[in-house]
Amino acid sequence: MPVLPWFAAEPDLFRFPCPSYGCLIIFRRDTRFGIFCSKFTKEGKSNMNRVLDLLFPPRCPVCDGISPIGAPRCHPECRALLQPVGADFCMRCGKPLPDSAAEYCRDCAVREESAFERGVSAFVYEGAIRDSMVRFKFFGREEYAEWYAGELLASRGEMLRQFGADAVVPVPVHRRKMLRRGYNQAECIARTLAEELDVPMYACYLRRNRFTVPQKKLSNHERVRNLMRALEPGRQAARLKEQQKTPRRVILVDDIYTTGSTMEACAAVLKATGTEHVMAATICIGSGYT
Ligand SMILES: [Zn+2]
Ligand SMILES: [Zn+2]
Repeated sequence: MPVLPWFAAEPDLFRFPCPSYGCLIIFRRDTRFGIFCSKFTKEGKSNMNRVLDLLFPPRCPVCDGISPIGAPRCHPECRALLQPVGADFCMRCGKPLPDSAAEYCRDCAVREESAFERGVSAFVYEGAIRDSMVRFKFFGREEYAEWYAGELLASRGEMLRQFGADAVVPVPVHRRKMLRRGYNQAECIARTLAEELDVPMYACYLRRNRFTVPQKKLSNHERVRNLMRALEPGRQAARLKEQQKTPRRVILVDDIYTTGSTMEACAAVLKATGTEHVMAATICIGSGYT
């Protein structure tokens, strides 16, 4: 196992002045790229990331061990532990289907009109990906987001591109959660997706105005209604509306899709702002039904 340099093991922040523009660049070990120099190009970023890889070696999203430089981020043997959604998936939510004859999963077959048209997801939410998601959400492993987004693009890139989105919007988290965690995990994934699809990412398009408690006892319909009350269009939605630039086709991003009620509620709020088509993109999807 490679030995980490002292500064990679210890501090969270690493700062030095940007030589070309004289502003302060701050690197966070977990983001690897928290930068406050707006003039950086994509190429500049990728060069900077290469330097950061030397300073703060990237970690495998599955076992959290260090990935050798130049090798894939995820160890091949670890990648083999994950269960991709595969070629047979529900035409609406993206859940894996047991056979290719069915078009919709059990839930979607009986569902009435839904606010989002299609859902895509990369992995079945089982086994090793669960632990990975826990570290990603609760233990500061924000850096996994890049790999997750890459995997989603590798398996569903064509569908995502064909959708022709004009914006990517993450599912919002409440401010209190954001302060505690330091980041919105959905936003981290959305950022890479938007960059790859070459469309803007609006992190403040939706806002969660109330702290919602887990609502396992409620029915799906009640859950959606509850969540909708906790959501509202954010300041970016208002600004874009003013400029008459409300996105028409939005890719809505979250980390995990389980019952679909979060996606449903967010998509409904998006539609209320004037968006016409919503595609739901997640990294993991549950294989069970409500
Ligand atoms: Zn690994
Ligand atoms: Zn479905």
